[in-house]
Amino acid sequence: MNADISSSRSTRDWQAADAAHFLHPFTDFQSLARKGARIITRGENVYLWDSDGHRIFDAMSGLWCVNVGYGQQALIDAAARQMQQLPFYNAFFQTATPPAIQLAELLAEVTPPQFQHVFFSGSGSEGNDTVVRMVRRYWDLLGQPERQVIVSRKNAYHGSTMAGASLGGMAAMHAQGGLPIPGIVHIEQPHWYQVGREMTPEAFGVHAAGWLEEKLLELGPEKVAAFIGEPVQGAGGVIVPPDSYWPEIQRICDKYGVLLVSDEVICGFGRTGHWFGCERFGSRPDLMTFAKGVTSGYVPLGGVMVGERIAKVLIEQGGEFEHGYTYSGHPVACVVGVENIRLIQQLKLVERVRDETGPRLAKLYASLRDHPLVGHAETCGLMGAIQLVKDKSDGTLFPSELEVGMVCRGHCFGNGLIMRAVGDRMIVAPPLVTTAEQIDELGRLIAMCLDKTWADVK
Ligand code: PLP
Repeated sequence: MNADISSSRSTRDWQAADAAHFLHPFTDFQSLARKGARIITRGENVYLWDSDGHRIFDAMSGLWCVNVGYGQQALIDAAARQMQQLPFYNAFFQTATPPAIQLAELLAEVTPPQFQHVFFSGSGSEGNDTVVRMVRRYWDLLGQPERQVIVSRKNAYHGSTMAGASLGGMAAMHAQGGLPIPGIVHIEQPHWYQVGREMTPEAFGVHAAGWLEEKLLELGPEKVAAFIGEPVQGAGGVIVPPDSYWPEIQRICDKYGVLLVSDEVICGFGRTGHWFGCERFGSRPDLMTFAKGVTSGYVPLGGVMVGERIAKVLIEQGGEFEHGYTYSGHPVACVVGVENIRLIQQLKLVERVRDETGPRLAKLYASLRDHPLVGHAETCGLMGAIQLVKDKSDGTLFPSELEVGMVCRGHCFGNGLIMRAVGDRMIVAPPLVTTAEQIDELGRLIAMCLDKTWADVK
């Protein structure tokens, strides 16, 4: 075994080398160089340790992915065994490896019944690029090549490749690099607290889905290939749609023959207390993007579940699909995926989130609504959002230049908690192995950080 490299240098030395050579994703490079990166060296269960030995409750599961927690030996052993036997072989040129076949089979078992086929990628972004190419190919094959447009939503996150960032509705991303690419349009998000409070959530959900129908009629539905959405918008701030939203979206897609794509990169594999978010919210997607939770982030893997309606056309009429990645079906990633899904099944993590830890987090968030800084607090399974407000009587937000979310995030970091700030919305997505007692621990940490933030800004 190689020695642990993390203790081979001081924190300051790591930070200096980091600032000198490493361009981090989604990072202001100058600010990072000034402050120095936090160096994470170890993980166990739901906790991380930094290079100064501080223990941190990782309430973001890495980046929404370490769902089975850190240090699961079954995943580690499976990867090591596969690396010894066959670290890589591709799935091009009519070849396959047993791990990729086995994972494809298992995915067909745990996903909704319309899914019997999978296309593997290395990430969620690549999965969504595959979606764009696949839905356009499908309509071409059906003799409707004019169906090109994909409708998505503002403030959605679908990845960082050209197509992924275009499908996403993040204004700051579109401002860099000439995005979105042609043929992708956006409608408003179903954000009840921000824009719909004069209606009941149920009425607002139907109203917000109606924006899709309006857009289809404006574009001409015969030009629209697909609608894509995250069941719960994650990176946008854990925006939980009203229960009426997705069934109405489904009805509209059915009415106009538009394909429905569920981006399950965050919501998949138990996060919502159901195997997939579409099952929680009652839609029947034609395609489903996944990544992150499929391997609990232990190794990179993503893909697209392809509904039989599309798979049949691609297989029977398609000839060669001119698309693929070197790492499509990577054998090490796939064995880890298989072990990870088996572990989720063995530990009954989906049921635990649905029946035990999800309701406990919901109860905790209900109690946080009394805090003077909290305008709104909501959860879905093991995801939660707290909207920080200046005046809770009418939901007035703080001026953005105060960066109250960042103040709160600073208190979290300083007190052993990773909670993410999206503007002034504080979000969590703890590992699915989090126990009921750890949810209570999380609650105490969050309450303490809210108090400290309140003391700074009141
Ligand atoms: N889709 C959703 C819903 C995501 O949250 C993400 C990443 O956070 C992606 C796609 C992109 O996945 P990746 O970062 O693996 O490319």
